Amino acid sequence: MSLRSKILPDLIKAVSSIIEQNAEEVTVLDQVLGDGDHVTNLQRGLDALNQQADEIAKLEWAEAIQKIGMTLLSTMGGASGSLMGTLFISMSKAMAGKTEFNQQQFAEVFVAGVEAVKKRGKSEAGEKTMLDTLIPVADKMLKGGSMDEICQSAVKGMESTRDMKATKGRASYLEEKSLGHIDAGARTSQLMICAIVDELKNNSGSLG
Ligand code: ADP
Ligand code: MG
Repeated sequence: MSLRSKILPDLIKAVSSIIEQNAEEVTVLDQVLGDGDHVTNLQRGLDALNQQADEIAKLEWAEAIQKIGMTLLSTMGGASGSLMGTLFISMSKAMAGKTEFNQQQFAEVFVAGVEAVKKRGKSEAGEKTMLDTLIPVADKMLKGGSMDEICQSAVKGMESTRDMKATKGRASYLEEKSLGHIDAGARTSQLMICAIVDELKNNSGSLG
């Protein structure tokens, strides 16, 4: 499979739509464990990406992903803004000089992005954050998992945050009380990953 960057505007639309459909649920999750603004932070970033979709569509991978990262960084705010910005900017650096990616190469790029998020957030797997979705997805991609398996690993990772005690971010102030609730960032990361998987499966015409 080789993926062309021209598919990015369709992916941005698919991601925006799934976040819109689940906005209320995610707001409640971030009200329980945080301050309730996670979905509005994310939607601000996605709105900005939709506004730039035509421009992004003209770019090659590294430039497009860099632009996505910079846009998220400058519009989202919150802990998630700097972490999502870091994810894409670091992916872009790992893409430098290449215009086409097979699945294995794309997996390596994603792993580089996730590693940068760990550094930026000073966090690891098991701390009840978006990383509990992103890390298993990166592992599954590296192992050559199918599209469905990638989405399934995101769902499993997201669900695993329910029984974790938060040690990073605002939720860490709750200590034991954070048990029993899914992390908002883990949920939005899972929704976005599964929406991208669905879009890629349904939009095979855009795969080169
Ligand atoms: P804020 O916490 O500043 O209000 P958001 O509500 O937008 O920002 O995002 C909260 C999400 O960010 C959390 O649900 C969690 O997944 C993620 N997060 C927060 N801090 C960290 C961290 N240090 N490492 C990884 N993810 C984090
Ligand atoms: Mg918040």
